[in-house]
Amino acid sequence: MKIAVAGTGYVGLVTGVCLAEHGHSVSCVDIDSRKVALMSSGISPIYEPDLEELMVKNMEKLNFTTNFKEAYRDADVIFIGVGTPEKHDGSANLKYVFSVAVQIAQSIEKDCVVVVKSTVPIGTNDKVEDLINTNLVHNVKVSVASNPEFLSQGTAVKDTLHASRIVVGVEDPDAGEVLKDIYKDFGAPIIVTNRKSAEMIKYASNDFLALKISFINEIANLCEIIGADIEDVAHGMGYDNRIGNRFLNSGIGYGGSCFPKDTKALHWLANFHDHELKTIKAAIDVNENQKLKLIKKSRKYFDSLKGLNVAVLGLTFKPGTDDLREAPSLVNIPILLEDGANVKAWDPVGIENFQKLYPENITYCTSIEDTLKNADVCFIFTEWEEVKNFNLSNYEKLMRSPIILDGRNCYDLSSAKSAKVIYDSIGRETIISLEVSLV
Ligand code: NAD
Repeated sequence: MKIAVAGTGYVGLVTGVCLAEHGHSVSCVDIDSRKVALMSSGISPIYEPDLEELMVKNMEKLNFTTNFKEAYRDADVIFIGVGTPEKHDGSANLKYVFSVAVQIAQSIEKDCVVVVKSTVPIGTNDKVEDLINTNLVHNVKVSVASNPEFLSQGTAVKDTLHASRIVVGVEDPDAGEVLKDIYKDFGAPIIVTNRKSAEMIKYASNDFLALKISFINEIANLCEIIGADIEDVAHGMGYDNRIGNRFLNSGIGYGGSCFPKDTKALHWLANFHDHELKTIKAAIDVNENQKLKLIKKSRKYFDSLKGLNVAVLGLTFKPGTDDLREAPSLVNIPILLEDGANVKAWDPVGIENFQKLYPENITYCTSIEDTLKNADVCFIFTEWEEVKNFNLSNYEKLMRSPIILDGRNCYDLSSAKSAKVIYDSIGRETIISLEVSLV
């Protein structure tokens, strides 16, 4: 089967590479010629564990191109994996998906199945099919299928090769058979439904996870007030298999390219139909407040951060990715700078992208030690393994005043008690094992 994939971001490239790993020949199309040149020379334009190795391994089955006409012309199946970013009003911006649909219509010369992998509002697959049919140049039959993606950044390859489920939404049963055939060796349950239900499964899944995170963050905030410990609470809850132990990590809120925009898009869609999704609205509101939690905590120690040396550990929205979209660092660092702090930042893979946004006013460091040297306070925004493995006793040795505001609960409280630090995390007792004279 000849397969083309439109878009080589986190979803498109991982899809293309994993399909090649399962023996398919895949043409990966992107409008970004820089990315295409990198991929053609065996370099992944995004950081994702195991992706580059798998891409290089399957290079003879992969083709990277900006020439969409060539790639789509005689394809049996075309996956659409382009972005659907948030518009100012919270709705999903579908211009990239629709533009690919028109390009497909103008290029294809034989019957094919177009598979929408991008996360799109309910009803979009119908529009894609209409758009293709009204713009067709050749007399061919096109079936549009919804096949939402559930991978997580940081574990994208693993999530795709060992998917929990594959959801296929079709109106044409033949298109369903084509997708079943493509995925036959993936070993995952394949759920076939209609297109709107498939589109809804994606939003409902993401929004439920966002809700779970906001729920545990609200409980964490209450734990802090009443003296309970959120780590123990989540541990105790997680044993209940009706609840499960995943997505119960409290912190400074979810970020990334999916949860923020997918909660807002579904909320927007419901509002458009005069229906309010109250729980989703609450998840969005809680998350927005949660992102400011460490700044609020810092006010306990300093009236202002003006002139203080502030160390920042972690810039990306989560470990295992260089993606900064909706990362808490992007909300907090501008506040630190506006306050007049001298900001030093470290991240193992996110600096290059952050530097594009903030080329000046931040000192970027290549080690945690350099970042902490002479700092008055440290903000932890991402739970990188390097941070978790960095001994707490080193903070006292390196910092001018070892005040650690940990937005990801990287350390257990017993180690904070034995180190000479002030350790303020989320949903837990603040450990003050050192008297600090604040500047
Ligand atoms: P991304 O921004 O990383 O990549 C999108 C790519 O599409 C870019 O490389 C861009 O240049 C390319 N593109 C734009 N227009 C194009 C065109 N006409 N032809 C070919 N390429 C074009 O996006 P992403 O994070 O991979 O997300 C893609 C979709 O998948 C979104 O709808 C997203 O919500 C969804 N999704 C993302 C994730 C994730 O973790 N990132 C997980 C599940 C679903």
